[in-house]
Amino acid sequence: MQPTKPHAALLASPGMGHLIPVLELGNRLVSNYGFNVTIFVLQADDSTAQSQFLKSLHPTLLNIVSLPSVDISSLVAPDAQVAAKVAVMMRESLPALRSTINSMNFRPTALIVDLFGTEALAIANEYDMLKYVLIASNAWFLAATIFFPTLNRKEEDEIIKQKQALKIPGCKPVRFDDTLEAFLDRKNQGYDEYVRVGLEIPMADGILVNTWEDLEPTTLKALRDSKLLGRVTRVPVYPIGPLTRSVKPQVLGNQLMDWLNMQPLQSVIYISFGSGGTLSANQTTELAWGLELSKQRFIWVVRPPMDDDVSGAFFDVGNGHDGTPTYLPDGFVSRTKNVGRLVPMWAPQAEILSHSSIGGFLSHCGWNSTLESIVNGVPMIAWPLFSEQHMNATMLTEELGVAVRSEELPSKRILGREEIGKMVRKIMVYKEGHGIRNRVKELKYSASKALSIGDSSFNSLSQVANDVNSGLQFLKSMPQG
Ligand code: UDP
Repeated sequence: MQPTKPHAALLASPGMGHLIPVLELGNRLVSNYGFNVTIFVLQADDSTAQSQFLKSLHPTLLNIVSLPSVDISSLVAPDAQVAAKVAVMMRESLPALRSTINSMNFRPTALIVDLFGTEALAIANEYDMLKYVLIASNAWFLAATIFFPTLNRKEEDEIIKQKQALKIPGCKPVRFDDTLEAFLDRKNQGYDEYVRVGLEIPMADGILVNTWEDLEPTTLKALRDSKLLGRVTRVPVYPIGPLTRSVKPQVLGNQLMDWLNMQPLQSVIYISFGSGGTLSANQTTELAWGLELSKQRFIWVVRPPMDDDVSGAFFDVGNGHDGTPTYLPDGFVSRTKNVGRLVPMWAPQAEILSHSSIGGFLSHCGWNSTLESIVNGVPMIAWPLFSEQHMNATMLTEELGVAVRSEELPSKRILGREEIGKMVRKIMVYKEGHGIRNRVKELKYSASKALSIGDSSFNSLSQVANDVNSGLQFLKSMPQG
């Protein structure tokens, strides 16, 4: 018997920032194009956000397959960057991925991998599948990732040793301070892994990016222009975003949502540093006092501080007499009980940001968080910590005008309480914030337009779906046996 529907397999790297856009892409392929979709994830501990999230999904049309967990302890140095650890985990999972694909009755026509899954493109080749890479970030990040490995040693030295900008043909240069830490330390395993990924991305049949034409027209043009970056890209680039989960704020049965329902329109600032971001102890204290000084309503996803790791929560402390966690200023909960709520570790972010009481987002600028803010028309305070978050913050503040930030990088020094209070008031209260709010509302409109039938992102994904479908038709035309 032959399959009647196209079947796409999607491979997600560990981490919520990777899983969420992969699932969303899978959902769109099922609901808009009638695909069968298999999502491969790496098995994670039951306590992780990923496991909890997968369990919480309503029965879904996606077939989610967990690949057995792998032990990478002997393969990565203890000081390796998160990116290196994720890349090694993905590599160690390849044999399980291959044997699972091999044993499928109806083999997928296409394999779509995310950033750290590019080594699996070779498996797609073995089984004559079409192969795509999904960049769950923006086109500027894609440009930097594929361009950096083309530099020679001297050009690399100018960046690493002389702290010069990464000048990408046809794109905005990436300032030294915004350059991915993986590119700056040749001795760290993260460097080799990122360079390899940058070289492997153009080996796909196409590159899907979580952006849209009107958000990054210049960069997308450069990626396609054979006189500029197109000579590195080589394959079609499909901006298919924004890929964000469509959610509705829950109305009942949740204390946080009940509290939000009682707050005035656009009066609450939401504070979160993504799935793994952490602050130092001193910075956490300053943030707490800064929020108090701002006198604004807030929801803060709090995590125990980490003094030497800004991505510490990827891998409980007690409470004081009034429920204040011991790492926050004594009495914080009592003093702010009328205006704020603390959520330990993890919050239903997409639901919170879509609530009409939310008026601002202090964010680490992970790309999913950024898009969730934009699609809800919420202005931001940019507080980047690691990875491409610095580039995102620069884009949001200097190019798109939808965020404010401190003059100096928070990763370079501790931001003081007065400055934090002022930034919060800037987007929530002051006149200056009105322009930012208007601008983000325009982007919200542009995002939803791009996804509508016949518009750019819709057409891009339709093109990919058609190609996968043609792959199926081709398979059907082959003699059976
Ligand atoms: N997220 C969430 N609750 C939290 C923290 C994060 O639901 O408390 C979700 C968030 O909505 C986003 C993803 O996790 O979809 C984080 O991805 P992002 O790219 O923003 O940052 P990363 O975690 O990869 O640094």
